[in-house]
Amino acid sequence: MTERTTAQLPLIPQVEALIEAMTLNEKAGQLTQLALNPGDDIEQILGSVRSGEVGSFLNAQTLDQRNYLQRAAVEDSRLGVPIIFGRDVIHGYRTIFPIPLGLAATFNPDLVQKASAIAAREAMQEGVDWTFAPMLDVSRDPRWGRVAEGCGEDPYLTACMGSRMVRGFQQSVGEHRSQFAACAKHFVGYGAVEAGKDYNTTWIPEQLMRDVYLAPFKACVAEGVLTVMSAFNDINGTPASGNERTLREILKVEWGFPGFVVSDWDAIVEMIIHGVCRDKDEAAMIALRAGIDLDMASRAYLERLPRLVETNDILMSFLDESVRRILTVKYRLGLFHHPYVEPAKASILLCDEHRSCARQAATQSVVLLKNESGFLPLPKSLKSLALVGPLADAPADQLGCWAFDSRVEDSVTILRAIRERVDGSVRVNYAAGLSECRSLETSGFQAAVEAAEHSEATLVVVGEGAELSGEARSRAFLNLPGKQQQLIEALAATGKPLIVLVLAGRPLIIGDVCPLAKAVLYGWHPGTMAGPAIGDLLWGDSAPSGKLPMTIPRAVGQIPIYYANRITGRPPKRDFKGIPTGTPLDPVDMDASYLDVEVSPQFPFGFGLTYTSFEFDEIQVNPKRAPLGASISVTARVSNTGVQTATTVAQLYVHDKIASLTRPVRELKGFTRVTLDPAESKVVTFTLPSEALAFCARDGGVAVEPGEFQVFVGDDSRATLTETFELDPV
Ligand code: BGC
Repeated sequence: MTERTTAQLPLIPQVEALIEAMTLNEKAGQLTQLALNPGDDIEQILGSVRSGEVGSFLNAQTLDQRNYLQRAAVEDSRLGVPIIFGRDVIHGYRTIFPIPLGLAATFNPDLVQKASAIAAREAMQEGVDWTFAPMLDVSRDPRWGRVAEGCGEDPYLTACMGSRMVRGFQQSVGEHRSQFAACAKHFVGYGAVEAGKDYNTTWIPEQLMRDVYLAPFKACVAEGVLTVMSAFNDINGTPASGNERTLREILKVEWGFPGFVVSDWDAIVEMIIHGVCRDKDEAAMIALRAGIDLDMASRAYLERLPRLVETNDILMSFLDESVRRILTVKYRLGLFHHPYVEPAKASILLCDEHRSCARQAATQSVVLLKNESGFLPLPKSLKSLALVGPLADAPADQLGCWAFDSRVEDSVTILRAIRERVDGSVRVNYAAGLSECRSLETSGFQAAVEAAEHSEATLVVVGEGAELSGEARSRAFLNLPGKQQQLIEALAATGKPLIVLVLAGRPLIIGDVCPLAKAVLYGWHPGTMAGPAIGDLLWGDSAPSGKLPMTIPRAVGQIPIYYANRITGRPPKRDFKGIPTGTPLDPVDMDASYLDVEVSPQFPFGFGLTYTSFEFDEIQVNPKRAPLGASISVTARVSNTGVQTATTVAQLYVHDKIASLTRPVRELKGFTRVTLDPAESKVVTFTLPSEALAFCARDGGVAVEPGEFQVFVGDDSRATLTETFELDPV
């Protein structure tokens, strides 16, 4: 092995002794993760466990089943190596938090860390050792259903949130276990799938790869994430699961990642379908050489490696390295010393503390997009409210994707929470209007319209059911599914004030919705405590503080649309109001805009209103001029100029004015939540080390170039308060 392909791993004597004692079959077994399904014949699987052919299971069904299988591994197999049990604990275990995109909208890393720690503690109680989260795939394409599972379009936000998720998951110490493992996935570039179609091809140049797609993974490796999962997509022609460049050279050698890499489900054998491997032998060989340590589900390693490595020394050493990585993580988790999980004496699942954190996270994840004349919060004098829409009382849908261990009956729906909250003091006229979000059956409209007519205001809850986002849930149209738009129009026609709450796993096209509503809230999928959170916001017990982690486009044709775009030689000079499609071409300017839609998004990244107004002024940079390598401090004053206590997120953006490569027009480099009473002000300070201005240079190296930089501070990515500083060459 060359230095290029070898990572330095710390040696643990117990692990080394085991590797020494293992047969090739047992080694391949350690590299094998099998999936369990409800109804599987466990007795049949026990045989493989006893002969050391399984290193890991995903989706053990119960704690008893887990311990039963573990006992077979520890007590009946020749070397007694414990199994590591993995599961998708993506945004909560039993207590479900907002989907990760919603968690990102809180811009609150402390809260996100707490939520992740709770998820890990609940999962550990039920015998899970390892979660396949966080998903760090930056994505600028809301057609891709998996944007629900990530932190949105920005590498900096994803890195901040992702690393705090890792810290939260891995800080959790169980009664009998030293640690819980997180998994940074999907390595890498999966969010760039062409046309937003899941599993699709990606073409990613080195600069974009480093600056955007790899950056959050690098942050999580620095945070100490114990495992990484490879992605399904191919990158520039090489599938991610056979990609020596990304897995071995960058992740393992360049970054020194000491943990193990698991493939995604069947991804090793899918390289045959990709057309880069002839058969399972070749797939196993390429994956091992590239750096996949654990084979999820496909059995290619188990079936093929023992024979293949016998005649191939390099492969043999890769096999040993992979076994070492997996055993080391098992060792660090404490599995050798505490392989079993005792049933809890007092369950912590869904306890008050967890529900209250889920409520807080849901509250902070909601983004207020419109609030005409301060329509919200609802006046205390309100006596009647119509509650309409297919998602107003949809306990499963509000949980979003990947909520396997939730129970629908735990969900507090919006209808239930509002009824409980007002306790008869406000008449709640409920009529769903549509039975579910995709329904085309409009016979319920009349009851919904009547409910609106008999109420002072209407809240309509629309969007996407849980099944419309997540894996393999790409969409080509991003409007409200079914007849939801028509339902909103029918309600608006009553003339009664309308509040629209959108629950969805992705940004949707809502340009036709906004003009019909007094207020628009974007709630993602808020989880178990959706109802109480929405109640708190409507009646003003909390003021909205969520900010968009992804741009909301005006039209699907604008995608990919994101704030950190590069400038063209002919930037749009103004927002062209558009001419209807089909109108003969009448160009008004030869610039980078569209003929038929404004060039700006519907709502920009970082945007979110609240029940008060904030102003930013007195920006200062210090020093204004410094040698390369120095840290620049940026301060600005934030003032609450309205009449309510509320929270905003102060955001710092940077633009590198002249560089050797074109640079994004803005890049988020800092954010902080600020809570202020009316008339109160506060100075926020951001520290900008020179390294934060680094980017991947033409030659692939890291560059921080001297010159002028412009900073912007404000409460969304269009912030206008600006200053400049200069870095001198050293
Ligand atoms: C997904 C992963 C997930 C794995 C295990 C795959 O289909 O892409 O994100 O962790 O299944 O459930």
